[in-house]
Amino acid sequence: MFEKILIANRGEVALRVIRACRELGIRTVAVYSEADRDSLHVRFSDEDICIGAPPARDSYLNIPRILAAAEITGADAIHPGYGFLAENAEFAEICERSGLVFIGPTADQIRKMGNKAEARRTMDAAGVPIVPGSNGPVDDEDEAVEEARRIGFPVIIKASSGGGGKGMRLGEDEEGLRRAFVMARNEAKAAFDDPTVYVEKYISRPRHVEIQVMGDKHGNIVHYGERDCSVQRRHQKLVEESPSPALDAELRGEMGDAAVLAGASIDYSNAGTVEFLLDEDRSFFFMEMNTRIQVEHPVTEAVTAVDLVKEQIRVAAGEELTLREPPALRGHAIECRINAEDPEHGFRPSPGTITAFHAPGGPGVRIDTHVYAGYHVPPYYDSLIAKLVVRANDRPEALSRAYHALEEFIVEGIHTTIPFLQTVLSHPDFEAGNVDTHFIEHL
Ligand code: ADP
Repeated sequence: MFEKILIANRGEVALRVIRACRELGIRTVAVYSEADRDSLHVRFSDEDICIGAPPARDSYLNIPRILAAAEITGADAIHPGYGFLAENAEFAEICERSGLVFIGPTADQIRKMGNKAEARRTMDAAGVPIVPGSNGPVDDEDEAVEEARRIGFPVIIKASSGGGGKGMRLGEDEEGLRRAFVMARNEAKAAFDDPTVYVEKYISRPRHVEIQVMGDKHGNIVHYGERDCSVQRRHQKLVEESPSPALDAELRGEMGDAAVLAGASIDYSNAGTVEFLLDEDRSFFFMEMNTRIQVEHPVTEAVTAVDLVKEQIRVAAGEELTLREPPALRGHAIECRINAEDPEHGFRPSPGTITAFHAPGGPGVRIDTHVYAGYHVPPYYDSLIAKLVVRANDRPEALSRAYHALEEFIVEGIHTTIPFLQTVLSHPDFEAGNVDTHFIEHL
C-alpha cells in the first residue's frame, strides 16, 4: 500500500480523498494556490505545499509544479480528484514516468475515451449501443446534412474533443443544421483547439442515467448500479439520485452489463462512469465515459455501502476488487449540489465571504464541504461549495429528508442554489419521478 498520497486538487474532493487516506493509514500532501491558504483541505492534510498563484494554470493545472511538490514531499502516488488534471492523459503518463502512481486509469485508457468520436467507434465495435449518428467526424455541411437525412431530424452536432456541455448544437431541419454546424465547429475550435465535430440523433426527451464501474489491474471489472442525473441546467447536473425512478432490475442489469462491456473492451482499471441517454421506450445509448471519480459518487456510496475512493486507492496499489458482483442497491439516495451562485439572476457566480454557516444533520445526512463560517469563496474556480447527500428507506422519505435538510442549511454572506434546490425537490413532476433532461428549462 502507498505511504503518502499527494492530492492534486482543491475543495471538497481534496477533503474527500484525505478522509479515505486517513482510514487507510496513508499520509497526505495537500497542494494549494495562494487563494486557498485557508481551505480545510490544507488544514486537514498531513503536509501542505503552495504551488502558485490563484489562476488554475499557475497552480492546479501546472504539471511541473505539482510534480515538484510530489518530489519534495516524497509522495508515492497522486490522486487527481475530478476536474483539473483528472482526465489529462499526458499528466497520467508523466506521473508514471516519474515513478508516481496515478490513481486512475492508464494514459491510454484516458485517451481512448477522451475523444468522443473515437469513443463512439470503440463502443460500437465492442457491441455497446450508441446513439445513431455519423461513423466518425463529419467534414462539411453537406456531409452533415446527408447524415441527418439518413438518421432523421432533429440531430445534434457535437465536438469530438468536447466536454462541459460546450460545442453542442441542435439542428432541427436542414437550414438550422447548416447554421449549427458552423457554430459548433467555431465553438469547438475556440474551446478545445479542435474543430472536429460529428452528428448524432437528437433524443427529444431522454433521461441521463449513468453507471458507476470500477476495474482492477487483474482484469476484473464490476458495476455498482446507476445514478439518475436528469436534473440538469445547461448540461450541468444539479440533483442526482440512485436508484433511478426509471429503472427496474431488468433494465439495471442490461445497462450495467453494457457499462461493464464498455470498460472491459478497453481493459479499464480504476473508477469510471459510463453515461447513457435513456429514451422513453427504455432503449439506451452510450454517450461518453468519464475516466475519473465523479462529483456525484456519494450517491452510489450511500446505496451500496462501498467507499469508492478507498477502492480507487486500493486498486491503484495493485489490489484486487473487493466486490466481484454488482451490490444490491439498498434504500434511496439523493445528492443536491450547493453552488455559490445566484439562481435569481441567471445562476451567476456569487463569490465572497461566508458570514454564517450551519450544516444540517440527523439520520442519513452526509455533507461534503470544504467551507465554514468566515471562509472566502474565491472567484477563480468552480462554484461548488457543498454537497448534501441523504439516504433513506425509500424515495419519498429521501425527498422529504433532503428538503428538510436544505431548510436547516444556513449559508449567509453569499447567494447559493439552496432555495432553487428546494423548488426542484418539491415540484410535482420531480416528486413523481417524471423528469427528463429538459425539466429545469420548463420550471
Ligand atoms: P459533455 O461532455 O459536454 O457534458 P455529453 O455528451 O455528456 O456532453 O452531454 C451532456 C448532456 O447533453 C447530456 O446529459 C444530455 O442532457 C445532452 N445530450 C447529449 N447528447 C444528446 C443527444 N444525442 N440527444 C439529446 N440530448 C443529448
